[in-house]
Amino acid sequence: MNLSFWENRYINDADICIIGAGLVGMISAIELRRKYPKAKIVIAERGSIGSGASTKNAGFACFGSVGEIRDDIAHRSEEECIALISKRWNGLQRLRSLFKHASDIGLEFHGSYEVFTHEEEDLAKQLSSELEYYNALVKKAIGEEEVFTQRKNIFGFKVCNETIYNRLEGQLDVTKLIRSLHKICQEKDITIVHGFALSSYEEGSRIRLDFDHGLSLMTEQLVFATNAFTKQFFPQLDIVPYRNQLIMTEEIPNLSWKGTFHFKGGLGYFRNVGNRVLLGGRRDIDMENENTIDFGLTSPIQEHLESFMYETLGIDPDISIAHRWSGILAHGKSKSPIIKSISDRVHCAVRLGGMGIAIASNTAKELSELL
Ligand SMILES: Cc1cc2nc3c(=O)[nH]c(=O)nc-3n(C[C@H](O)[C@H](O)[C@H](O)COP(=O)(O)OP(=O)(O)OC[C@H]3O[C@@H](n4cnc5c(N)ncnc54)[C@H](O)[C@@H]3O)c2cc1C
Repeated sequence: MNLSFWENRYINDADICIIGAGLVGMISAIELRRKYPKAKIVIAERGSIGSGASTKNAGFACFGSVGEIRDDIAHRSEEECIALISKRWNGLQRLRSLFKHASDIGLEFHGSYEVFTHEEEDLAKQLSSELEYYNALVKKAIGEEEVFTQRKNIFGFKVCNETIYNRLEGQLDVTKLIRSLHKICQEKDITIVHGFALSSYEEGSRIRLDFDHGLSLMTEQLVFATNAFTKQFFPQLDIVPYRNQLIMTEEIPNLSWKGTFHFKGGLGYFRNVGNRVLLGGRRDIDMENENTIDFGLTSPIQEHLESFMYETLGIDPDISIAHRWSGILAHGKSKSPIIKSISDRVHCAVRLGGMGIAIASNTAKELSELL
């Protein structure tokens, strides 16, 4: 494959080339455009559509359930937890500010609920009795009072009667989010090319990028926004990829509830998408096989999700599962992303986990400060 003069002029000799067109790649490009109004910015994405997490996720606009915060506190200091919550909250506001209307990204607020299975009854009681503590912690992080309250399970789910309600969490429409980001990139003269899988790069007077299909491009600055897929280039980075599988029902006439729901300390989650139900996660059931960079659906997780959908949530067995998919996230010893310069001209903003929607925009802002 070789490029025509026109194609070459379109994508080659960039000032900044970003690898990966996920949330971080696209928002980084938008931040860099603010800083460098005249720069030639190109995003090279390997997939024909995103091939990571940003087009596969569940669309929770969340900053931490009580169960997740409790787990965080077990592994890090209270100050660190407050900083994490604050970062996610500010990140959500920053993300929202990229768009004119909340409807551009389908952002809706129906609150979120943490539900507990019957085996977790003791945990449910304990967390409910500690809400004052968690509310005080969240107040320190975001300045809001009484974020968590106890609510009865009025949904008919076969889980404990007590749920913990978070009045500030919301949900967005991932299709609209991606489409709106593409639109902004186009308006800001940011070029996105698909089907460009970077295989290697070499720093010389400029940086040469070699792609799987045999094309080479030159750039002055290089940014990796490749999240879980970054170890191929930088094996020294502490990045552990993991997979999440999801299922979604067909439309359910008269679905009686709306909102986002967390269970098992955030390892499982479900929500309404219009009048469908999306359910995903629970990699803990088969951790060994879910710690992978490969997309795919497996029987243990799929069967568990289906049984939760029909038996625990009580979805009518005549309603079928219309969509199944998986996505790949990243984690490491720290819950914060890795945002750093590898050399003077090569930088990365990677390792976004299960709250990447909340932290992508701050990550992109911090990345833009490196260039
Ligand atoms: C199933 C699932 C559910 C989730 N649910 C939520 C949620 O409800 N709320 C929330 O806040 N977060 C959620 N997340 C997490 C969130 O989606 C991610 O943290 C976020 O999208 C990460 O964005 P990113 O741009 O860093 O990575 P990605 O979206 O993974 O983007 C990286 C891109 O780099 C590309 N790439 C990789 N290697 C190369 C290469 N060599 N050459 C070219 N391109 C390359 C990939 O194809 C990919 O498109 C979920 C994730 C998954 C998988």
